[in-house]
Amino acid sequence: MTDQRANRSRRQFLAASTAGLAAASHAIAQGGATEPAAAAQPTRSGGKLPVKSISSANGLRTTRRAYEMMLRGADTLDASVAGVTIVEDDPRDTSVGYGGLPNELGVVQLDAAVMHGPTHQAGCVASLERIRNPAKVAQLVLQQTDHVLLVGPGALKFAKAHGFKEEDLLTDRARKIWLRWKQTMSDRDDWLPPAEGIEESDPQAAAILRNRPTGTIHCASMNAEGDISCVTTTSGLAFKIDGRVGDSPIIGAGLYVDNEIGSCGSTGRGEANLQNQCSFAAVELMRSGMTPVEAGLEVLRRVAKHTVPRLRNDQGEPDFGLKFYLLRKDGMHGGVSMRGPTKFAVTDEKGTRLETCTTLY
Ligand code: ASP
Repeated sequence: MTDQRANRSRRQFLAASTAGLAAASHAIAQGGATEPAAAAQPTRSGGKLPVKSISSANGLRTTRRAYEMMLRGADTLDASVAGVTIVEDDPRDTSVGYGGLPNELGVVQLDAAVMHGPTHQAGCVASLERIRNPAKVAQLVLQQTDHVLLVGPGALKFAKAHGFKEEDLLTDRARKIWLRWKQTMSDRDDWLPPAEGIEESDPQAAAILRNRPTGTIHCASMNAEGDISCVTTTSGLAFKIDGRVGDSPIIGAGLYVDNEIGSCGSTGRGEANLQNQCSFAAVELMRSGMTPVEAGLEVLRRVAKHTVPRLRNDQGEPDFGLKFYLLRKDGMHGGVSMRGPTKFAVTDEKGTRLETCTTLY
C-alpha cells in the first residue's frame, strides 16, 4: 500500500506490527508498466505480511529478483544482495559496481553497506577498489568479522582473502566520461578538449557531463514473516576527491533497519544525509506512528533547514537531489525526494513497477 492512499493511525500501526496482521490494501502503480509478479507460491511458513521489495528506480530487476528469492524462502538480506548484484555487474549503470564512474584520479572506489533486520547486524565497506561486488563483501564483513566497517586496502585484502577476484572496474565508457570531465573542467589547466567528445555520440554521457551525477542503488526487502533487511551500494559521487566516502556505507545514513519498525535507505547527496542521519531518524519517526512518506518528508525538511546558503537555489531551496525509500513493518512503503519528478521500484504480489516519489519541492 502506498501511504498516500492509506492512512493508518498510530495505534493501528502498532497493533499491526506487534500482532503481525496483514496490511489493509495493496500498492497502486503510479507510473511505469507493471510486470506480473512471479506465479504465487506458498511462502516459507505461511506468514501473513505482504512479501515486498523496494529499490531506487534503477532496481526493477533487483526487486524482482529479491521478491522471487523470498517466495522460495530466501533470507531477506540474501535476496536483497542478490538483487543489487545484478546492477553492480551491469556496465551500463554508471552509478555502481563495474562501470561506475571513477573518482577525480580515474579510479573507481566503491562503498556498500548491508543490514539484517532479524539479527540487527550490519556490515560495510568503503573506498573499496578493484572488486565489482562490494555489497557481497559488506555481507561477509557482517558474517565473518566482529566489525562493522572495513575501508580501502584493508577491505580489499579482506575481499581477496574470501576469494573475490581483482579486476579493473573502469570501463572504456566510464573512462571517456571521466577524461572529458577533466578536459573541460577548467580553461586554466593544461588539458585541452578534443574536437569531438563522448557527448557527441552518447546522450547519457552528455547529461552526466552537464550535471555531475550522484547515483546508487538501495534495496529493502520484507518477507511474509515481516523480517526486513536492506542494502545500499554505490560508486559514489562522480569524480569525487580520492578517498571521499558518502552516506551509502554508513549505518543510520545510507540505510537503517529496525526489524520491529521498518527500514529506510537513500540515494543522492550523501553529505546532506550524513549531517542529518536521515535513515535512522526516519525509522524512529515511523516508530512514533508516521507513515513512510510522512517520515521521509520530515527528514527532508530537516535537511532543507540545515542546508548552507551555497547549496540553495534562487528560491532558497536545497539545490541538490536526495531520495529516501521506506518500508514499514506492516507492509506500507513509500519513496520521497527533495525534488521531482522521480520514481522508485517496487515488486510485490501486484508485480514489478515504478512508483512516483512524493517530493518536498
Ligand atoms: N549517496 C551517494 C553518495 O553520496 C551517491 C548517490 O546516491 O547518488 O556517495
